[in-house]
Amino acid sequence: MAVSIDLKAPDARAELAANALSAGSLASAAAEEKPSLIGLSREELGAALEAVGVPARQIKMRVAQLWHWLYVRGVADFSLMANVSKDLREKLDAAYTIARPEIVTEQVSVDGTRKWVLRFPAKGAGRPVEIETVYIPEEGRGTLCVSSQVGCTLTCTFCHTGTQRLVRNLTADEIVGQVLLARDRLGDFPDAATPAGAIVPTEGRYVSNVVMMGMGEPLYNFDNVKAALAVVSDGEGLALSKRRITLSTSGVVPMIEKAGAEMGVMLAISLHAVRDELRDELVPINKKYPLKDLLDACRAYPGLSNAKRITFEYVMLKGVNDSMEDARELVRLLRGIPAKINLIPFNPWPGSRYDCSEWDEIERFADYVNQAGYASPIRTPRGRDIFAACGQLKSESERMRKKDRDALQGAA
Ligand code: SAH
Ligand code: SF4
Repeated sequence: MAVSIDLKAPDARAELAANALSAGSLASAAAEEKPSLIGLSREELGAALEAVGVPARQIKMRVAQLWHWLYVRGVADFSLMANVSKDLREKLDAAYTIARPEIVTEQVSVDGTRKWVLRFPAKGAGRPVEIETVYIPEEGRGTLCVSSQVGCTLTCTFCHTGTQRLVRNLTADEIVGQVLLARDRLGDFPDAATPAGAIVPTEGRYVSNVVMMGMGEPLYNFDNVKAALAVVSDGEGLALSKRRITLSTSGVVPMIEKAGAEMGVMLAISLHAVRDELRDELVPINKKYPLKDLLDACRAYPGLSNAKRITFEYVMLKGVNDSMEDARELVRLLRGIPAKINLIPFNPWPGSRYDCSEWDEIERFADYVNQAGYASPIRTPRGRDIFAACGQLKSESERMRKKDRDALQGAA
């Protein structure tokens, strides 16, 4: 069902009349084969400028100009870069693209959550791919849930994405592109009338937080995620504080320390079970990196402190991991780790073999953990009606059949 929510983007309101938009109606410029300038470091951007003949002495200045247009002003078209010479704009346009990902559908939940299915062009010999990006507005902040891979190689038994085999890693431009597109659609960038060089405030934006909690395991796509988050957190561009960026991992232990040292963002761990036997089943990567190794890596996470805690995610599965004994063991396991525990009511999907714990059980569990001194918010399921909730994401190519969707809407 479509709802009316207050969005700055003028055209966004009209679109709310139709909850799901038909393919192509919002498509940005058709994906071209030209390399993208989005997601590059300043050095790489400099090299790209050099390649189209920008003289060495101008590179630094031109990189700064482009950076401003791309990430402060959010332009998706070289011709809008008012203080860049026409000659250079044309050269850039001939060689590169800064187009947004193509929007296949944009849906708005009754609770204001938005989900975009985005299509990216084939890379190399592959086929075009589709992923999902979700925006969750809350009181005082707005969180964008970004995907890192198309599908996932891991097969967590409660996760819909885990039933889709990995198609490929997303590139840095595709990861940053999700943030740019969301900011476009929400009206987060200044409008075209804002003069070149004007100071653009970073306060009061719709996208205030980014979580790498969409499709895929971000630590299996380390380099691209690292490059993308460096752009997203760059103080002269998108300028999201690293404290407002969270990377969630199922527990790729050897990469955790490296993530802390090289990305410096907030860490979330998909824990979900407190005994190896059960975690082996729910989160199979546990067979490779068992709980002890995982928690040791957490204790050693660079920058860990009471002000910079690790979030442990715990999906509440009825009769599986939701007993008081589990709660006690959880508290015991996490002793000494500055932590916050995020209890996630299980979100069903077609063919899922679990049920969500009873609400009373979830509250009892939360109270126990809370009394042991851990913040333990219960994550309100968001966007279930548009299948945007945690663990419900899956590519368009494997989208649910209508019958399954209708059956689940009753449950949502
Ligand atoms: N692959 C990464 C990040 C994406 S998943 C990871 O596993 O951490 C984001 C969160 O949603 C994870 O904690 C995941 O375990 C959880 N999740 C997956 N399926 C879910 C479901 N059906 N219901 C509730 N949470 C789910
Ligand atoms: Fe992959 Fe995370 Fe889903 Fe596990 S929970 S299958 S790691 S996306």
